[in-house]
Amino acid sequence: MDETKKSAAQGTQTEIIYDELGPEYVIEVYDPKLNFRGVAVLDNLNLGIAKGGIRMTGTVNPIEVSRLARAMSYKNAMAGLPFGGGKSGIMVDPKGMSLNKKKAIIESFAKMLRPFVPKYYIAGPDINTTEREMMWFADAHGDWESCTGKPANYVSRKNGKTRRGLPHELGSTGFGVALSAKVALEHLEMKLKGAEVTIAGYGNVGVFAHKFLEEWGALVVAVSDSSGTIYDRSGLNYAKLMKAKAKTGSVLSYPVSTTSKKLTRDIIYELSTDVLIPAAGPDVINATNVDRVKAKIIVEGANIPMREEFEKILHRKNVLIIPDFVANAGGVISSYAEYMGYDSVKMFKLVEGKIVPNVKEMLLSVGKGSGMPRDAAIRIAKRRILAGKAPFRK
Ligand code: NAD
Repeated sequence: MDETKKSAAQGTQTEIIYDELGPEYVIEVYDPKLNFRGVAVLDNLNLGIAKGGIRMTGTVNPIEVSRLARAMSYKNAMAGLPFGGGKSGIMVDPKGMSLNKKKAIIESFAKMLRPFVPKYYIAGPDINTTEREMMWFADAHGDWESCTGKPANYVSRKNGKTRRGLPHELGSTGFGVALSAKVALEHLEMKLKGAEVTIAGYGNVGVFAHKFLEEWGALVVAVSDSSGTIYDRSGLNYAKLMKAKAKTGSVLSYPVSTTSKKLTRDIIYELSTDVLIPAAGPDVINATNVDRVKAKIIVEGANIPMREEFEKILHRKNVLIIPDFVANAGGVISSYAEYMGYDSVKMFKLVEGKIVPNVKEMLLSVGKGSGMPRDAAIRIAKRRILAGKAPFRK
């Protein structure tokens, strides 16, 4: 990670900030045999067991993990889940590492966290950890409930109840992002049918946001990945784009037509559009391009696609921003569904039943004043956390 990305991940913090919410537990572990350090931060447990993914990077540290755990407290509270906020980090860059070594590290981390998992913390996937790592984690820990995001064929049969993994690869996050866009358009009294959408980042989140928005009649006119932007004013067809991307790994291999063109990667943030969905990395909207953003609505699929100061600038220009921890909560709602033993049909219903009313409540709370949606959402989340009475607290 370069220095800019590193400071964005840490903000300007030089140490963990303790306040009225937490963090309640900061657990640091070290495995002298495998020579790696790990950290789990359980930010606040008022609403329930802390929930949040495991990040495995060379730059993750306790400060970054504590900030992410706080974001999870807000995200879970805002999503209306009986989960507190947590996050963990394994401080090793897995790039170029053998699969055996990575597996050994995940297994060791799972065992070291046993005193806290799953009683106070349930893990999940995050950067460089997927359904495979979750399977390793659960196997080594020994409890199916120790983490979510496990493979669909990872089954538990207990007390006559069958529970299966619900991998993030089912598209719950992209579905929630698409729903957030739908509610935001309704809020501005704009039609979803024919609304123009641009999606920056075509991975798990971006792909599924495209799929659902297209199904509901929106026109996804531009999509980018690390190789560039593909634009088609008559709308990019989801099935065709998936096929093209699968073939070459790039959205730029989408079939050329009289209405389509290839553009540079970062120009996507500057295109005129009804809805812009940043679904790649952090800080993609920044000092260099914020003045050229022309979207009417921004739905933050990615975490921290821009710092708050840039959200404020766009808010002053009447851009409606649905903040990350509200818009991309579909993944953690799916985690809750997995924990409860729901199937994917019930999971998608739950995502809809949570995201739609919560985005509406946030927008209602902003009212007609000049307040920011992010501030309104934090107010709602804080109120819920401070009033929370998880049963295990008694
Ligand atoms: P992913 O790795 O599946 O996809 C990322 C995509 O972004 C890839 O297509 C990649 O080519 C593209 N990309 C990378 N750098 C880019 C750049 N500079 N410009 C344009 N595109 C670029 O990741 P994902 O799971 O879709 O996650 C995307 C974001 O959403 C991350 O910030 C992640 O933290 C957040 N998020 C994901 C989930 C989830 O369930 N997957 C849940 C909540 C939040």
